[in-house]
Amino acid sequence: MGNPIHHSKSPAIHRLFAEQCHIALDYRAIEVALDEFEQAVRRFQAEGGAGLNVTVPFKLDAFALADRRSQRALVAQAVNTLKFEGDGEILGDNTDGIGLVRDLTRNLKLKLHGRHLLILGAGGAVRGVVGPLLEQGIAGLVVANRTVAKARELEAALATYGPISGRGFADLGAERFDVVINGTAASLTGELPPLPRKLFRDNAVAYDLMYSDEPTPFMRWAHAHGASRVADGLGMLVEQAGGSFFLWHGVRPSTKPVIKALRHQAMQD
Ligand code: NDP
Repeated sequence: MGNPIHHSKSPAIHRLFAEQCHIALDYRAIEVALDEFEQAVRRFQAEGGAGLNVTVPFKLDAFALADRRSQRALVAQAVNTLKFEGDGEILGDNTDGIGLVRDLTRNLKLKLHGRHLLILGAGGAVRGVVGPLLEQGIAGLVVANRTVAKARELEAALATYGPISGRGFADLGAERFDVVINGTAASLTGELPPLPRKLFRDNAVAYDLMYSDEPTPFMRWAHAHGASRVADGLGMLVEQAGGSFFLWHGVRPSTKPVIKALRHQAMQD
């Protein structure tokens, strides 16, 4: 459920998982009016739904609606996966963060331990990924956001989980990073956050949470300003879907062939 939802690749991803795992399921994108999220979830539950993914702008509503929340949902204060339990209770989980970590470490073969990370943005997606990134034993995580207060709030909320520091783009100074993740929505409108020209260490990776058939403005900028490798968020999307699938069905699908199929499909479109 989301709004808008027509662009969603999730039905295709779950169809591919279902075929691979020989599980019969029906997963559809449902566009929900902005003030009708709770009614839509309760109706879906009453009709026999097993669970759902939640995307923009309902992740905070889903967190509030859940009767029980996983530890990682509690850290993120946001929910992207709901599961209807046998007793009628609703479990809220957040698989965005493990989705990103799995894409970085397994698919892109990146070592995060001891690395210096920068995340741009402090919205819902970034809230979901900060906790799991801090769990990787990184050397430091700087969160830079247009609205500086939101970056500082995130620092205050998550400082107990690891070395996090929140600030504005203007305060990035001369620090250099091994991994720079764009978690702003700027790419959606073809924009780029205001960034210092020298941001990347040697062999640095730039990662845009947004996925697109064409390189995003951030990916192009990073390539031109010294990033050794540049990736979009398609792998994270498939990996977070894999986490939700596991929660609902107890089976972990193989994600690599699904990422490959989606890339292939994007090239045909
Ligand atoms: P939110 O609306 O919650 O947050 C948006 C963030 O972007 C805020 O930090 C906002 O700053 C910042 N921002 C927006 N426009 C600009 C701009 N022009 N310049 C600088 N900063 C800007 O969105 P989400 O966190 O849910 O989503 C962020 C991105 O992550 C999207 O591109 C989305 O597609 C992607 N995403 C990808 C996923 C995946 O699986 N690959 C999963 C979830 C999200 P401010 O606080 O100042 O308003």
